[in-house]
Amino acid sequence: MPQDSPPRAWAEVKLDAIRHNLDIAKKAMPHVEMMPVIKASAYGHGLEAVGRALDNEGIAFFGVANVGEARRLMRAGCRTRTFILGPCFAQEREEIALNGWCPTVSTLEEARHFQSIALLYNKSIPVHLSIDTGMGRSGFLPDQWGELESQFAEFPNLIVEGVASHLPVADEDESFTLQQIGVFEAAAELLSAQFPIKYRQLANSAAVLNYKIPSGNLARPGLMLYGVSPMASEWDEQLMRALSLYARVSLVRTLPMGHGVSYGRDFITSAPTVVATVGIGYADGYSRQLSGKGACVYLHGRRCPVLGRITMDQIMIDVSAVPFVVEGDSVELIGEHIPLQEVAKLANTIPWEILTSLGPRLPRLY
Ligand SMILES: *Cc1c(COP(=O)(O)O)cnc(C)c1O
Repeated sequence: MPQDSPPRAWAEVKLDAIRHNLDIAKKAMPHVEMMPVIKASAYGHGLEAVGRALDNEGIAFFGVANVGEARRLMRAGCRTRTFILGPCFAQEREEIALNGWCPTVSTLEEARHFQSIALLYNKSIPVHLSIDTGMGRSGFLPDQWGELESQFAEFPNLIVEGVASHLPVADEDESFTLQQIGVFEAAAELLSAQFPIKYRQLANSAAVLNYKIPSGNLARPGLMLYGVSPMASEWDEQLMRALSLYARVSLVRTLPMGHGVSYGRDFITSAPTVVATVGIGYADGYSRQLSGKGACVYLHGRRCPVLGRITMDQIMIDVSAVPFVVEGDSVELIGEHIPLQEVAKLANTIPWEILTSLGPRLPRLY
């Protein structure tokens, strides 16, 4: 039998760190229930593994993006209630209602459809009212809030158990965010007088770590669970990085002076250079935007510059300063020595995108 090809690149995930970070969220917002946001395969960390790791951690909901992720959690045996963060398509609503997943409602059309499904199956369906306090992505607009009570009288089988909104600039604009929190507070008070609202949810990671939301009693931390803070906060020291990205050296050669490296020949050696080829590329989520930006990886205690363009499956690094590099050596691309924030900045993007771009070809080792 041929031997399995060893992985050229992989992500190491510490589930303990994610549990620890959830505890930090609970400490930062005491008396607030938690909805760990594990959409996009738990920000690249693996939906099933993270779901199972948090299922018994005293949480109210899991937050996912769509029905496909809700199904995966169910098949993984997770028992925590599943909340679908965004709007759902009409053909998904029956499955949502039958599986007891919790949807948001942003329009009367959605509510009417859920009501008809509820009648069809002679059941009640819990829903959360999405209200738009500034995100501009979903939810009832402020001029609609006053009429919801009378309009929802038509939907007796819908249990409006929550009100939800989202913060677009919690990590960037304090004055807008404070104003938005005020608007949410007023809306939550108004709607709680009209509906059996049990959950009032607004906080993402940036808000969990930096804001008070007096009436909020359910938070939706995402990024912070994975050990990354969206902005500086007093809690940063306590968050634990959950993911490290590694790849292996596949070849080591010495290129002469004046030799091009990678597509486009953007990089030309200015001296004889020991170049290692490493088995990871943009197809794995190591962004092509990192080409020519001075990105480094970590090998045998040293930072090594990435040379030339990132290719689909391989990168080349300068290991001239590193003694004894051999085929098979592990290279850190993100982790203890190469912070995710550094990589995101060089790639001109945000940590969320780097994590969620890590591809299915990378095995996740727990
Ligand atoms: C993704 C998402 C979150 C989590 O945001 P983080 O900044 O990663 O904490 C919270 N709420 C909603 C509605 C989301 O879509």
